[in-house]
Amino acid sequence: MSHIRKIQTRKRVALVAHDNKKEDLIDWAIYNKAVLSKHELIATGTTGRLLEQHLDTPVKKLFSGPLGGDQQIGAMIAEEKLDLLVFFWDPMEAQPHDSDVKALLRLAVAWNILIACNRTTADFILTSVLMKGEYLMDVPDYTGFLTRKLVQ
Ligand code: PGA
Repeated sequence: MSHIRKIQTRKRVALVAHDNKKEDLIDWAIYNKAVLSKHELIATGTTGRLLEQHLDTPVKKLFSGPLGGDQQIGAMIAEEKLDLLVFFWDPMEAQPHDSDVKALLRLAVAWNILIACNRTTADFILTSVLMKGEYLMDVPDYTGFLTRKLVQ
């Protein structure tokens, strides 16, 4: 059976942008600085450094994405330590860490967390009334998978 986890009013927000999308993410973050500063911000290394330069808000910086940062965020998702992922990935250019990108997107869906991969979706999420309070989130149940019969 699935279980419920309570997302707090102050949400844990991870921000990641590929190089061609960094300007877009920074621009969006500056525009939404007041709202973002109410939440805990986490980012891959380079994205985080740029965010700190442009926002007066501390950002927890992980490794740079291609050096393991995407996987660190993926682990946080699986450990239920993240509520929202804002991930401006580049649809026009292959990345050296494409397998990590795919893995991160997959985990976000597998664990039913909030995810915005473009500015329009990020705007809708950030202005949702649900951002302003606690939210009871349904965590999918993988018991069937974990207890699958593998040996006769
Ligand atoms: P970066 O990583 O913020 O360190 O550039 C982004 C990414 O995951 O590609």
